[in-house]
Amino acid sequence: MQFNSEKANVVVIGGGIFGCAIAYYYSRNNPGKKIVVLERNELCNAATSRAAALITKIRAKKYFIPLSLETYRVIPEMEKMLGESLDIKKVGVMHVAASEPRVSDLKELMAIAEVFNQPATYLSNTAAHKKAPWLKTEEALCIGFMPEEAYCDPYLLGTFFARCAKLQGADLRQGVEVTDVLMDNNTAVGVNTTGGKIYADVVIIAAGAWSPIFAKQAGVDLPMAPTRSQYWITERADIFPLNSPIVLLPDAQAYARPEGGSLLFGIREKKSFSVSPKNIPADVSHFSFSGDKGMNDLQEVIDRLARFFPTIYDVGLKYYVAGFSGYTPDNNLSMGAAPGVHNLLLATGCVGAGISVSGGIGLAFAEMAAGNANPYDFSHFDIERFGKIDAFSEAWLNKCAEARSKKLSG
Ligand SMILES: Cc1cc2nc3c(=O)[nH]c(=O)nc-3n(C[C@H](O)[C@H](O)[C@H](O)COP(=O)(O)OP(=O)(O)OC[C@H]3O[C@@H](n4cnc5c(N)ncnc54)[C@H](O)[C@@H]3O)c2cc1C
Repeated sequence: MQFNSEKANVVVIGGGIFGCAIAYYYSRNNPGKKIVVLERNELCNAATSRAAALITKIRAKKYFIPLSLETYRVIPEMEKMLGESLDIKKVGVMHVAASEPRVSDLKELMAIAEVFNQPATYLSNTAAHKKAPWLKTEEALCIGFMPEEAYCDPYLLGTFFARCAKLQGADLRQGVEVTDVLMDNNTAVGVNTTGGKIYADVVIIAAGAWSPIFAKQAGVDLPMAPTRSQYWITERADIFPLNSPIVLLPDAQAYARPEGGSLLFGIREKKSFSVSPKNIPADVSHFSFSGDKGMNDLQEVIDRLARFFPTIYDVGLKYYVAGFSGYTPDNNLSMGAAPGVHNLLLATGCVGAGISVSGGIGLAFAEMAAGNANPYDFSHFDIERFGKIDAFSEAWLNKCAEARSKKLSG
């Protein structure tokens, strides 16, 4: 495809959920302006389609919450536009605390839910077991239930953003690879692609795991590292009812949710795995995430999980899914304006929460790209908060991997 030397108002590198969401809000709020999203494979092929897709609203990090609330708000808006249901699964989430520190975290979370007007109640261990028959609740000290939390099909959510964006006039192109960010001194002026150059007033990097490569071209060491997330899906069994809640087990550093009569579960590995963005193939399905489908990692921590899910030893595992999210040492997103560079925005460093926050991120970047104020507080996501780093060094990659191993929540 050739489109030599075009001009757009905004050009976005990457057609994952962030790129598609930005295109949706920008085209909705700026009719007549031209936004082009460039995706080298198919839309939402990389991290987005692999997500477990918990759309967590209530978190200890309160500044994530407005971003996720926007995701919940926009879904019916897009369903109406397309005349189709996204079939979001509002099954609620159970937080199970089995140690004093986690009980105190849960109490804080319940208070946060109240501040954000989200329903939250405590459940007895028996009631919790009834909702999730696979869950052994004997050791739980406290269980909180938030009935409005949900999960979804992440590919469908990403492509809903894309389809609605197209209806509003956004230009989303597949099979077009961006090779360079075009710079004029310290100003981003467009991108070079396999189809020619596109000049733009604003360039947005939303290239997921590959984002540090483009940031570096503009002189920015992006503070994130592609870090593997992995989960497993069991065989079907009666103990995994279709509509049972999502379960978060911070004492086991694990989460689970129903998946069509099976259980989908993830657990933090003892040692998480980060890799240089330069070593990830353009089609991530060609990357070997684990020779043994994560079985060694799972074996190392299975006792942690078996405390709450004893049948894990007996139930068969049907699927293994892995992908890269952009992790950071403090588990905060890394995004905003590129420091020291004009007209370059970074929608990056998703810390495994990109599906949840996609609505807010889409709106924030659409507003910033249009020259308006960011409606959200991004102060915790500042690109320069770690000082000078080398985003491709072993030391940095290990630091980001460690942050994932220590993560307690889902
Ligand atoms: C196993 C797993 C489980 C997860 N579970 C959850 C969860 O439960 N809840 C949640 O909220 N999040 C979850 N996530 C995280 C979520 O998937 C990501 O945060 C989100 O998908 C990030 O979207 P993105 O658009 O930034 O990246 P991506 O979806 O990776 O999109 C980036 C795109 O950029 C394209 N690209 C890269 N380089 C170029 C180039 N040179 N030219 C053109 N295009 C390019 C890529 O092809 C890709 O399509 C999970 C992730 C994984 C891997």
